[in-house]
Amino acid sequence: MATIGHWINGRNTGGNSTRRAPVYQPATGRQLHDVLLASVQDVDTAVGVAAAAFPQWSQSSLSERTRILFNFRELVNAHSEEIAEIVSHEHGKVLSDAAGEVQRGLEVIEFACGIPQLLKGTYSDQASAGVDVFSFREPLGVVAGITPFNFPAMVPMWMHPIAIACGNTFVLKPSERDPSSAGYVAGLWQRAGLPDGVFNVVHGDKVAVDAILDHPGIAAVSFVGSTPIARHVHQRATAAGKRVQALGGAKNHAVVLPDADPGFAAEHLIASAFGSAGERCMAISAAVLVGESDRLVDLLAFKAATIKVGPGHDPASRMGPVITAAAKERIENLISVGERQGATVAADGRGLKIPGYEDGFFVGPTVLDQVTPAMDVYREEIFGPVLSVLRVADVDAAIEMINRNPYGNGTAVFTGSGEAARRFQRGVHVGMIGVNVPIPVPMAYHSFGGWKDSLFGQSPIYGPEGVAFYTRSKVVTQRWPSSAASSEASLYFPTG
Ligand code: NAD
Repeated sequence: MATIGHWINGRNTGGNSTRRAPVYQPATGRQLHDVLLASVQDVDTAVGVAAAAFPQWSQSSLSERTRILFNFRELVNAHSEEIAEIVSHEHGKVLSDAAGEVQRGLEVIEFACGIPQLLKGTYSDQASAGVDVFSFREPLGVVAGITPFNFPAMVPMWMHPIAIACGNTFVLKPSERDPSSAGYVAGLWQRAGLPDGVFNVVHGDKVAVDAILDHPGIAAVSFVGSTPIARHVHQRATAAGKRVQALGGAKNHAVVLPDADPGFAAEHLIASAFGSAGERCMAISAAVLVGESDRLVDLLAFKAATIKVGPGHDPASRMGPVITAAAKERIENLISVGERQGATVAADGRGLKIPGYEDGFFVGPTVLDQVTPAMDVYREEIFGPVLSVLRVADVDAAIEMINRNPYGNGTAVFTGSGEAARRFQRGVHVGMIGVNVPIPVPMAYHSFGGWKDSLFGQSPIYGPEGVAFYTRSKVVTQRWPSSAASSEASLYFPTG
């Protein structure tokens, strides 16, 4: 059985790691390999290497960086199928969905290819008599990324292409549950011409994460994962003086108003609740139906029950397994708790067995009707294929429900009314809003981020905010006095 090692200074290494974790194939339940878990010293080695690479990389020309980024873009594009296969194998999601994840990551790389344009500063000619003012942005130093299991290729690509394009060096700590794509992508960076030491990968768990948060050589930390860990990362890394963006979990509501097309709404609700087995931070997990809705619930239950569940590599599968046996148990248990607390199970995914894959971590699409905000299935982020249906009287009650929820990542409204959509988009305390679009993930040239318990720190991720996060500005006020000019200076603020 292979052991996945770290990638430090352009090569695979075991470092000092003595601990390991098993990596499973969720479709079969079999262990695929082990991954090393970094020690504090391994993290220190990676940071040291990244720090040593920083002076030269931060001084590289924009042309050189752009050339390497374009090479990297070409390589990721050429190898997107291999990356998708690695992701699907370890994560479980269907291949077409894994390919979509690579595509979204690729779009961030393409955005970063425009770095000369993105790093253009500002210039004010003749701000005062004979005085010009200009600003430009510089990289921070060594920056780190800590990422979740659910998008093992895409979420790291929300970070490293932009951080590196800005002139930083990078240490990635991927999820230990599906770690292999990180090393593969590291190899592509090297082939693209990135100097060794600029991009490094340390695998690990809490030990590695906390070593990153405490390390004095790291200037900034980008984190994406669950809310409790995001809060911990934000507090600990901020206390250590770092710049931090920590994106957390979610409970995303989709509101269906009576004037929405029920067929369109049901189709999109199903896709957004059960795509990637509900393991998306932008998955719709709460459908909030306004008005008489029994027919829509019947439609949702029918569509959920007909989704073909199976291993990710089978082109017939529309939904794969969840990530671990523990996740399967937790999700099925939460469905049972929901039933005990009064929800109606309109489609039941518990106890699903896929022929030939009896030990896989499969949970079928589940629809729970008559859910209330007091129930555990509503209060917890289930992160599995479970859609809870709640009912309210009108759009204002829906907005109020969304605003009482502690999360504020994404939300959507299905309606034919521009007036209602506008009231909704202005009223909800949520960072990303879809109007007849169930998963409103911003494109790479916008930025991604929720509100409230879905984001700690000020900064959304990627896009223009990503460039701002990975750089800091200098403002220069400059005068070149002519030899004929008076050298007299006044003791008060000049007013001209
Ligand atoms: P997680 O919080 O368990 O793990 C994320 C990272 O933190 C991993 O690298 C992990 O090794 C590390 N980690 C785990 N426990 C830790 C601890 N006690 N101390 C320090 N580090 C620790 O999240 P996950 O289960 O891998 O991913 C799913 C979660 O991520 C969901 O809550 C989902 O909503 C969220 N997510 C959010 C976004 C977003 O953009 N807001 C995107 C994707 C996923």
